[in-house]
Amino acid sequence: MVRRTKIVATLGPATSTPEMIEGLIRSGVDVARLNFSHGEHEDHARSAELIRKFAREMGRNVAILQDIQGPKIRVGNVVGGTELVPGNRVTIAPGDFLGDASRLPVSYEGIAQDVREGHRILIDDGLLDLKVVRVGENELECEVITGGLVLSHKGLNFPDSSLSIRGLTPKDIEDLEFGVREIGADWVAMSFVRSGDEILDLKDRIRRFGGKTPVVAKIEKHEAVGDIERIIRAADGIMVARGDLGIELPAEQVPIEQKRIVARSRRAGKPVIIATQMLDSMIRNPRPTRAEVSDVANAIFDRADAVMLSGETAVGRYPLRSVQEMDRICRTAESAIAYGQDLAASTAWGRGDKYDALTHAACELAEDLAAEAIITSTQSGLSCIRVARFRPSNRIIAVSPEESTVRMLALVWGVDAISGEQVGNMEARVRMSIEAAEGAGFVRKGDRVIITGGVLNTTPGSTNMLQVYTIGEE
Ligand code: PGA
Ligand code: MN
Repeated sequence: MVRRTKIVATLGPATSTPEMIEGLIRSGVDVARLNFSHGEHEDHARSAELIRKFAREMGRNVAILQDIQGPKIRVGNVVGGTELVPGNRVTIAPGDFLGDASRLPVSYEGIAQDVREGHRILIDDGLLDLKVVRVGENELECEVITGGLVLSHKGLNFPDSSLSIRGLTPKDIEDLEFGVREIGADWVAMSFVRSGDEILDLKDRIRRFGGKTPVVAKIEKHEAVGDIERIIRAADGIMVARGDLGIELPAEQVPIEQKRIVARSRRAGKPVIIATQMLDSMIRNPRPTRAEVSDVANAIFDRADAVMLSGETAVGRYPLRSVQEMDRICRTAESAIAYGQDLAASTAWGRGDKYDALTHAACELAEDLAAEAIITSTQSGLSCIRVARFRPSNRIIAVSPEESTVRMLALVWGVDAISGEQVGNMEARVRMSIEAAEGAGFVRKGDRVIITGGVLNTTPGSTNMLQVYTIGEE
């Protein structure tokens, strides 16, 4: 059986050599994530080149996802061995000074304007916990609640405050330009998004750099949960970034948000990734815990498009085993799902909008006729994503004349995407799509297939064609 859920793997020091990158792709990685919170531009460029090279050699469709750091607020430089002790006071202030246990520098100027007395400040992925007891002119006096060692450049979270820091930092803009112009990333993920407007700003930037890279909004701030409808509408894809989200919200809230966000993203036709700590113990151990296996399987039961590995592949001891393990968990969980029956639960999605209705009908038709595959002939990829969100039991094949569309679709649940010629009229386009699918070995003579897509149309996502064919009998 082909695996339908896609696997995203983060590259890093553990996976920077040609052998490891080849190994990742061979083990089943569909999307390689380049994390621009770390590493130099030339390292990312080299990794990107290797991904393209091995994907081409192995005949695999692999997308590159550029993840930009976003407005993460960090501690500045602190003297080694700085330890915060519970009950003690520590002052937090913007600036460049060397921090110690009485005074810590942060990278954000407006901190005293945005944070109020009683708010919590978390340091180092929530390991340390402070409470603001006094707001000064340009500093915050805090009480240490949970203490520990503070290292330079650790991240800060402000779960109770609404910060006025704006979307993209100068570093993000530089990285974005590099991603669009030099790497040709297939997706760009934006960290610490708070609103749909920030996504629209990012898209505007991308356009000004001459690109049209689709955008993944990482949901990892409490404000993002509040603006989730508009974020989903503005973005092209969504990531449930549970690492930071579980600090910004009470951690026990995350599984509930995960289910909500997956359901809404699917309904809206936006591919959704579940990320962070999925096989975390495999950073150190050759086998995952039972709880981790269960977490990955649950993401598949939630109907996520993709599951993601972070530290497991970036810095872990067992990067390839982590991918192989994830691949096995996905296949096994999928074998327990009756995807065709799933369609009944989304019947209402087909009502009211002609594109929703048409793609829903395509899936119903495929189910009723037990078609081998649904072939989507697509320019932008939107017709295909609309079909995939119904999670049909039939194979989904996308044929597109746009290379960037083919690669972008590597993230989308159940889709095998291939390139096909640019042809104008409907009949020629249908024939070309079937031939391309046959040529790639996805379907063969005698197979019944459903063909859908947007034909003779310029608006992306205008799905307007639906046909049934038996290959070889015309
Ligand atoms: P990160 O994002 O790995 O860039 O922090 C994912 C998360 O926070 O879960
Ligand atoms: Mn994060």
